[in-house]
Amino acid sequence: MNQVDYLRISLTDRCNFRCQYCMPVGEKIQYQPHPELLSNDEVLTLVRDVFAPVGFKHFRLTGGEPLIRSNIVNLIAEIARLPSTQDLSLTTNGWLLADMAADLYSAGLRRINISLDSLNPATFAKITGRSTKDTWDKVWCGIQTAHQVGFDPLKLNVVVIPGVNDGEVLELAELSIDRHWHIRFIEFMPIGNDALFLEKGWIDSETIRGQIRDQWGLESAQVKGNGPADIFQIPGAKGTLGFISQMSECFCDRCNRVRLSADGWLRPCLLNETGQLDLKTSLRQGLSVTTIQEQVSQLLLLKQDINYKERESGSVTSSYSRTMSQIGG
Ligand code: SAM
Ligand code: SF4
Repeated sequence: MNQVDYLRISLTDRCNFRCQYCMPVGEKIQYQPHPELLSNDEVLTLVRDVFAPVGFKHFRLTGGEPLIRSNIVNLIAEIARLPSTQDLSLTTNGWLLADMAADLYSAGLRRINISLDSLNPATFAKITGRSTKDTWDKVWCGIQTAHQVGFDPLKLNVVVIPGVNDGEVLELAELSIDRHWHIRFIEFMPIGNDALFLEKGWIDSETIRGQIRDQWGLESAQVKGNGPADIFQIPGAKGTLGFISQMSECFCDRCNRVRLSADGWLRPCLLNETGQLDLKTSLRQGLSVTTIQEQVSQLLLLKQDINYKERESGSVTSSYSRTMSQIGG
């Protein structure tokens, strides 16, 4: 079993996009009131005084859309300068990136994942739920700016949905040929928009790899911070390709992460909230950091048990009541 040393921190459950696959269409989303979200000081206290002492070294900031969180640059600077932080990364939809990439880099952020599900502006507008066709241009400009200020490896996340963007797999994979970029294909999960999942279904990673293999060939590769992704490369390409196959392959035994939601719940698994801890209440009720460390250590033991059972059964037993944007994807 992997050592669990990677915390994904959701900084907000709000988002300036409405991606079809992430949020239910036509339903009003219930956001947490601001006072219910962890403050920057609380996030920093948890990272520095609770998670680092129990062995966490890798931190990813996510959401919702993390770049809409006020003072995110300061928070990044604080986490980056902790001696215990070996790796700090961020996942974003890229909408605000052109304006913020330089400040994020100066604050100490070095790794960034940007969601880019299509190279076609009309398809992109449809997927992201934004009516303006310039959405794609703005995100693409953010990606270019992130590249120019030095983020390396720059990773692009693609959720492949049948009949929506599956026809673009080769074009998206081709981005890795001339650029030192990492394109990650993520299997669509029934979390967030069950109706779309039932209507469209999903495509497994091996099918996507097959398309790419037929076109160019594929060989195994490595990339920094690959987590549960299987990494490949088009022969001779500068960049790499990753495949996150949480639907077709149970990688629970390789899972090294837990997730902290924006309102302070620590969950052992994306799809399983058994034993989750309310760390915000623990902090606000004045529990000592030593006591909270003990609670977290207990949750890590429970996670081992959950992962073992999932692995043995060969699939994840979902018990979730939140969307990806609410949990922190
Ligand atoms: N807003 C940021 C973004 O879109 O990159 C960060 C949060 S988002 C929830 C994190 C990742 O979750 C994105 O790469 C997104 O594509 C992925 N995601 C959201 N819903 C998903 C689903 N139903 N199946 C697979 N991946 C999903
Ligand atoms: Fe927002 Fe990211 Fe979800 Fe899209 S995937 S709606 S950008 S949180």
